[in-house]
Amino acid sequence: MQRIAVFPGSFDPITLGHVNIIRKGLLIFDKIIVGIGNNSEKKYMFPLNNREIWIKDCFVNEPRIEVKNYSGLTVEFCRKNNAGFILRGLRNASDFEFEKAISHTNNSISPGIETIFVLSDVELSSISSSIVRDIIRNGGATSSFIPPSVNF
Ligand code: ADP
Repeated sequence: MQRIAVFPGSFDPITLGHVNIIRKGLLIFDKIIVGIGNNSEKKYMFPLNNREIWIKDCFVNEPRIEVKNYSGLTVEFCRKNNAGFILRGLRNASDFEFEKAISHTNNSISPGIETIFVLSDVELSSISSSIVRDIIRNGGATSSFIPPSVNF
């Protein structure tokens, strides 16, 4: 049976931290579906279409990566896509506490879908989409934080 994982997130925009987690995930899983969560209550900097295209362009040569978007529960999206795993990245202890609560909740509403946590490489562990958005807003250089496919 294929090991399929969903990597959920906002990817507003995708960063080199996300890319690192996805590449490490490919060592574990046969296929990774990057799931762009669409939350109507959240304001995004970049339109869904751009976020999706940037991720697709980044993995254009990687047939084991699929990019989709979804609204609603991540576990439901997993079920619809036959994914038994949720892949999440960890940067620090507060990520861990937050992710632990979500993972336990997901486990209780949907037993059988396991969350697997992966650490990014140390030099990428401080990158976040929110810091990148701040740099963009203030006209700073972003090339050390985002893949070249992100052209805004
Ligand atoms: P969300 O909107 O759910 O916070 P993000 O798009 O910010 O999603 O991130 C998706 C996933 O990638 C999360 O598991 C997050 O912890 C992880 N992640 C983001 N940046 C990094 C990084 N630099 N190192 C490790 N994990 C990261």
